[in-house]
Amino acid sequence: MIDIKSMTLEELREDMNVLGEKSFRAKQLYEWMHKKLAESFDEMTNISGALKEKCAGRYEYTNLKCIRVQESSIDGTKKFLFELADGNVVESVWMQYKHGNSVCISSQVGCRMGCAFCASTLDGLVRNLTPSEMLDQIYAITRLTKERVSNVVVMGTGEPLDNYENLLRFIRLLTDEEGLHISQRNITVSTCGIVPKMRRLADQKLQITLALSLHASSDDKRKELMPIANKYSIQELMEACSYYFDQTGRRITFEYSLVGGVNDSDEDAGRLIRLIRPLNCHVNLIPVNPIKERDFVQSDTDSITAFKNKLEKNQINVTIRREMGRDIDGACGQLRRRHIEQSLQ
Ligand code: SAH
Repeated sequence: MIDIKSMTLEELREDMNVLGEKSFRAKQLYEWMHKKLAESFDEMTNISGALKEKCAGRYEYTNLKCIRVQESSIDGTKKFLFELADGNVVESVWMQYKHGNSVCISSQVGCRMGCAFCASTLDGLVRNLTPSEMLDQIYAITRLTKERVSNVVVMGTGEPLDNYENLLRFIRLLTDEEGLHISQRNITVSTCGIVPKMRRLADQKLQITLALSLHASSDDKRKELMPIANKYSIQELMEACSYYFDQTGRRITFEYSLVGGVNDSDEDAGRLIRLIRPLNCHVNLIPVNPIKERDFVQSDTDSITAFKNKLEKNQINVTIRREMGRDIDGACGQLRRRHIEQSLQ
């Protein structure tokens, strides 16, 4: 079976020829899938019964089953737990901002990067998500909230650059003018820093934002938090970031989760400044979201403010990430993990 929702319009046109169908059928099918967000072939009223049957025999039509929604009473953030066709579950988050609605999607079932503070990686990687399964998270949320999604961040469970080909195809389909037509500038891809893939992505010259999860300003500290640091040094990362900016003209976002007593000192901030000052960048400070499996604690408010002020004094753009959905297992992978734990009991 061919995964029809992962096909480009061009590929679908060619496949209609294989089926002996007129190529304009491809556009009709594509619109149903990617514009009208149909949940099955049955909904496609201008497609004949005969073609629907052919399609059902040749294509797999992915669709997510929403099995749980949690809504934050603090900020309206909604967290969705979706079941995939094979029974695996992924989570996605819907956030409302002044400038529009943003969806945070997962790119893999689980993750193999092993970051010490992250709940998504505790059970390792199960499998990559297909382009259609990444799109489906956005499509399902659009249907459920009945609101337009304007921004997409690939910051949920998984390492997007560890699923590189599917990620690129997903971006192509999401930004296609025959689909939801989300602007590349409204898409952010967050990576733990797989250097060769960052460079390959730069060569694509897309206008998406690349966010790098830095979390430490020395290799030794970064290694304590992120196993990937054993493979690529901070120096190599900075060179890759600067290459990304040169190729795309897009400012890099650095994510820095503040962990109490680990990476939040004045010295840490000083080293960070020296590292990133040469780059055109923005820093997102995230108070670490403690997970019960690890004993990391959040930095206290004074340290967070001091860290931020020091960066600002050195002309570095910085924001403290608002903690959306803290009351609903907002941290990566927590909801999925809790669901799995409960179903095993
Ligand atoms: N694998 C990608 C994207 C998913 S994680 C990456 O590493 O960037 C999205 C962001 O959330 C990353 O910056 C990650 O380091 C951070 N993160 C994960 N768990 C967290 C936690 N418990 N508290 C704060 N930030 C966390």
